[in-house]
Amino acid sequence: MKPNYVQKVTNWGNFPVVEKEMRFNDSVSKIKDFVQERNEVIARGNGRCYGDASLGEHIFSTKRLNKFIAFDRLNGIIECESGVLLSEVLEVAVAQGFFLYVTPGTKYVSVGGAIASDVHGKNHHAEGCFSECVIEFNLIDENSQVITCSREENPDKFWATVGGMGLTGIIISAKFRLKNIETSYIRQESIKAENLHEIFRLFDESEDWTYNVAWIDCFQKGKNLGRSILMRGEHALKAELQVDLQKKPLKLKEKFKPAVPFYLPGFVLNSFTIKVFNFLYFHKQKKKQLNNFVNYETFFYPLDAINEWNKIYGKKGFIQYQMVIPKQNGKEGMKQILEAIAKSGNGSFLAVLKLFGKNNAQAYNSFPMEGYTLALDFKVNKGLKKLVDQLDTIVETFGGRIYLTKDSMSRSSLTDYLKNVDSSKFVSLQHKRIVNNN
Ligand SMILES: Cc1cc2nc3c(=O)[nH]c(=O)nc-3n(C[C@H](O)[C@H](O)[C@H](O)COP(=O)(O)OP(=O)(O)OC[C@H]3O[C@@H](n4cnc5c(N)ncnc54)[C@H](O)[C@@H]3O)c2cc1C
Repeated sequence: MKPNYVQKVTNWGNFPVVEKEMRFNDSVSKIKDFVQERNEVIARGNGRCYGDASLGEHIFSTKRLNKFIAFDRLNGIIECESGVLLSEVLEVAVAQGFFLYVTPGTKYVSVGGAIASDVHGKNHHAEGCFSECVIEFNLIDENSQVITCSREENPDKFWATVGGMGLTGIIISAKFRLKNIETSYIRQESIKAENLHEIFRLFDESEDWTYNVAWIDCFQKGKNLGRSILMRGEHALKAELQVDLQKKPLKLKEKFKPAVPFYLPGFVLNSFTIKVFNFLYFHKQKKKQLNNFVNYETFFYPLDAINEWNKIYGKKGFIQYQMVIPKQNGKEGMKQILEAIAKSGNGSFLAVLKLFGKNNAQAYNSFPMEGYTLALDFKVNKGLKKLVDQLDTIVETFGGRIYLTKDSMSRSSLTDYLKNVDSSKFVSLQHKRIVNNN
């Protein structure tokens, strides 16, 4: 007989899958008891991290901490429980002329998860990480006490917790700022780059844009290595929109979404199908440059358009590998990374390149550092660990690091950068793996 509340749990990559205790509750006193009565507790938001970061011996899920507390419409300040999703914040905020300061590539992450990973978006070079907009949060700490953390109150805990991957306690609620928008549309420019040299130049030329991101075709080699499309954008002003769109400038997109109904067989996604996809994606845009207006959903959350798209990788799941390489070495580092991937034949279905700006030195646990960051998806297979090892060596040689919220197999020298989190109370399987040297 399994003990009560033990169940199979996995995150977005469906790898690893574990059987552990998972509890839900919306009563603060019950959550305090949960923390007090156990060691090796970890918070889990919406499980959108890819690997083992929100898995542990005793998981506390914040799904029932899902209530809004206050919305100051004058100043754009939201206060809510930590399990509220960014998608729910947008549903309330956009219609009132507000948007998230920083958003990751999916809106289905909880506010607690956004703080714990100190997530970044396409605007890191301009507006930093999520912590920049966080005013304060309430945390259940290792003594099972609720403490308020802000830049003024318990600042040490505040800075250890942002990017601290749940290892300082359970965030139960938070207060954060939104930015003003006139419309729910983005003025977008998509520019094709034939190779790595050209995409780096485009990033440099686009520094004044608030949002920048590039999709890369990882199968290209030689003179086409790094073939990509840069997408840059700004929140559109009402006057910039066509007259018919100006009638409802803050319109939300319709909700219908197709879904992947079951795990696709492992063979469906292979190097051939990914090559075909990449070819079609690159050539879908006929012109060198395309300028248009798109809804914010299309610009920020293209992957959210298909429910459970993670099932396309099959039952064994996939990993996401995201690294950053400091700017001075970034170009050579990225070249070597892309060469290694193209040679391995382990193409990534999705590969996203961004240029991070300077990091906030106070947020010492946040992943970003000034430089190039590349995020890649790889299907789990026998040869994967070897490829990850090869990529780790390149990242290490160039002084980079790995994003903990995506990691599930990188070496500890690239992933052990967290400080002030070594308590025995809050421990994830990831943390254990890293401390035990993988
Ligand atoms: C399609 C996709 C695109 C993504 N794009 C980006 C991107 O562009 N930029 C980016 O930065 N990230 C990105 N991510 C990663 C995602 O934003 C982070 O993993 C985020 O932390 C997930 O939030 P969650 O609520 O699902 O938390 P979980 O995945 O459940 O947990 C993530 C971490 O946060 C901790 N945590 C969660 N809730 C709490 C809490 N209440 N208190 C304390 N700790 C907590 C967990 O312990 C764990 O360490 C992407 C993920 C997906 C699936």
